[in-house]
Amino acid sequence: MHTLADTHITRRVAADENQTDNIAYLPSKLSKKAKSPLIDMWCHEKLVSVDVFPFNEFNAPGNRLLDRFPDRVIYDITLIEGKNAKERAKAREVCLASLNETFDYSSKSDKCAVLVTDASVPLLSTGKQAVAAWHVWHSDQFTSSFCAGGLATSDDTETLAIAEALGYLVGFVDSLSDIEEIHVFTDSTNAIHHSIDPSIHSVQSSAITMLSVLTPWMEENDNHRIIFHHVPDCEDYMFKPHRAVHNLATSTKIECGLSASRTIAFSRKQITDDVMSDWANQFRLSQYVGQHFMYPRWSVRRCNHAGAPCKPPSHLNGGTWLKDVGHSSSLTAQMVRGLTSHAPIGHYRHRFNIGDKIEACPHCEGGPPETFHHVLYRCLKHPTRPPDASRFSELSPLWDDFGKFTMDNLTAFAFKDSPAYSQTVDDSI
Ligand SMILES: [Zn+2]
Repeated sequence: MHTLADTHITRRVAADENQTDNIAYLPSKLSKKAKSPLIDMWCHEKLVSVDVFPFNEFNAPGNRLLDRFPDRVIYDITLIEGKNAKERAKAREVCLASLNETFDYSSKSDKCAVLVTDASVPLLSTGKQAVAAWHVWHSDQFTSSFCAGGLATSDDTETLAIAEALGYLVGFVDSLSDIEEIHVFTDSTNAIHHSIDPSIHSVQSSAITMLSVLTPWMEENDNHRIIFHHVPDCEDYMFKPHRAVHNLATSTKIECGLSASRTIAFSRKQITDDVMSDWANQFRLSQYVGQHFMYPRWSVRRCNHAGAPCKPPSHLNGGTWLKDVGHSSSLTAQMVRGLTSHAPIGHYRHRFNIGDKIEACPHCEGGPPETFHHVLYRCLKHPTRPPDASRFSELSPLWDDFGKFTMDNLTAFAFKDSPAYSQTVDDSI
């Protein structure tokens, strides 16, 4: 940091130890120019009520728990894998047996402590806030408790549960120094990683609470270690200690009220959900998608096609439709031209007074209008077309039908000089 200019935002913040008010002293041009997670946090600080600590003693390189004690933080995370349901069930059974064995041994030992945690996150519409619950075991004795998690995601609340359970353990045992192993059982791998991650994230404050207990404890003795066990999600092979905490979390109802805390991840998810919902609503309006947009439908069974829903637009995993055309620019162009009817077809030429302005299809007897539906379901120019044309010819297409049609008929909705034309024998128009 000492190499940064005096006016650099990071240096100014560090000089004043996490004082977010620093932003007020920055020249407006600098605050607009500077792009970083810090700036992002400040811009949206009103949306959250959980503090973050960009500069803390546990986050310096070399000071992090995993830097200092890499062999004493152990992850027991088993992926449930198998070629079929039977193999996966067997894998779950083996995993459960291992968890039970570890739990039986560690919960009875006076050298071990066990934290079993779970979270419950009700729907926002219920007016209830998240609940973090835990059981703490030591020398075959156990205690349990819970706390309100505010408005948070499930990973946030699970991380909170781990941190709170550790704090509870400190009060439960005579001396934490006498404990050699702390076993944590949770069903969230994200929470496992977040719980000892001191960098900026949604529940960083919980991680710092954890680290303020774990770090001095590990410094005391080379035998001290923490083991995180992941409890796989399975109904058939229940891990009873975790199920008991799950029941505690889900049966506890806490009203949101006006003072529930809000985490960063929750606010981000809520904003994303709102935007997605708004986008989906916009997609139903012809003013937004265009009057001739053919909103593809999705159906597992063809007989349901008439009532098949349109999949909402999405920005995730390559989008709702773009991911299916891969990286092919010609296929992408074909798809967009087809679905919007902005393609070299009679309907488009006639509508926009382009070229000969003739709407009639030159390939079919009688010259029917060369519309999207004609090209997809009836036109003789293309050798293959979707089945059941007579039933569905007035509806927007099934996405599978449209995709297969464009793949089979590379010249459909394509210009003469497109690469697809040079690959085809029939170039008669
Ligand atoms: Zn035709």
